[in-house]
Amino acid sequence: MPKNIPFVDLKLQHQPLKSELENSIQEVLERGDFILGQAVEKFESSFATACGVENAIGVACGTDAIALGLQACGIGAGDEVILPANTFIATLIGVLYAGATPVLVDCHAETALIDWEAAQKAVTSKTKAILPVHLYGQMVAPSELKDFAQANNLIIFEDAAQAHLAEREGYCAGSVGTAAAFSFYPSKNLGCFGNGGIVITSDPEVASKMRTLRNYGAPRKYVHEEVGTNSRLDTIQAAVLNVKLPYLEGWNSDRNQAAQQYDNLLSPMEEKGITPIKNVSGSGHIYHLYVIRVTDKSPINRDTLKEKLTVAGISVGIHYPIPCHLQPAYQNLGYKQGDFPNSETLSEQILSLPMYPVISEEQIHQVAETISQIIN
Ligand SMILES: *Cc1c(COP(=O)(O)O)cnc(C)c1O
Repeated sequence: MPKNIPFVDLKLQHQPLKSELENSIQEVLERGDFILGQAVEKFESSFATACGVENAIGVACGTDAIALGLQACGIGAGDEVILPANTFIATLIGVLYAGATPVLVDCHAETALIDWEAAQKAVTSKTKAILPVHLYGQMVAPSELKDFAQANNLIIFEDAAQAHLAEREGYCAGSVGTAAAFSFYPSKNLGCFGNGGIVITSDPEVASKMRTLRNYGAPRKYVHEEVGTNSRLDTIQAAVLNVKLPYLEGWNSDRNQAAQQYDNLLSPMEEKGITPIKNVSGSGHIYHLYVIRVTDKSPINRDTLKEKLTVAGISVGIHYPIPCHLQPAYQNLGYKQGDFPNSETLSEQILSLPMYPVISEEQIHQVAETISQIIN
């Protein structure tokens, strides 16, 4: 009997780090600096360096990183922000919490990344920022992003929540624009043991405003100069991240290798409608998720394949089954079915296969072999 294959395996990944992690957490307990302690400062500095920027400001989660990061860039009420319709809902929530107006656009079917032609059509005199999402761990092309922003005089704010240390055209994710948001949700490529997030920027004013916004809007104790909130990266979470960060590059490269193996094993199934989302950034793609499309050429649809894989003990996911514009809570934005055809088609065709740094060759073989048996 083949063994069950989980979607991610954090336990196995953390096993070799167990004593390092315990020591790092223990140090926080001994110091007692639970809020904005030493470990936070240390992590902020190392993460900024790793991404090739000047500053990093830890916050409570990735959603807050987007909301507060946009605010720190001076984006708010009356400003339109362009973002893709096929992203995790938090991208949209971040824009709304910043008080800005979200303007959704479609993506390319092959890469699932934002469609620049669609984005161009969405620009108005009120557009203030472009918020690209480096989806699944693959960066939007920095050259195209910069050209688009420059041509329309827009601020670039990257949602890099799935792209820790992803690269393309020599840029690291989060270093292309004015600022960027990351999440350290446990299953992200760099995850903590709870919630966490960070904003990175090389702009000193944005950095300083961020530090104020996350700390009740107070640059000094009890002097509230901004309308801020309480959103800080916990010192204990930073202690975990300090241990994990040095391993991130290796983990990312393990994921990339696993993806290449999937690509090779799945390529004969192309004519049967199994088409991986295209990697146009080579080894810079960090595969937060490995996503395939089950196209019309397949004898069975995505939902049937998902069901059969689940029965076979292989855990899979869908990222995401309902595009943002069709979510019930956001119908007031005025979008309808048919507005973003590629996003809608993808939501029906995509399937995320097991992907994590310690996944074995045998496990990948088993996944590919099971898919092959199901569709043949
Ligand atoms: C995970 C994620 C977020 C939000 O992060 P949280 O830490 O869960 O708030 C935002 N955008 C994208 C694309 C994500 O994948």
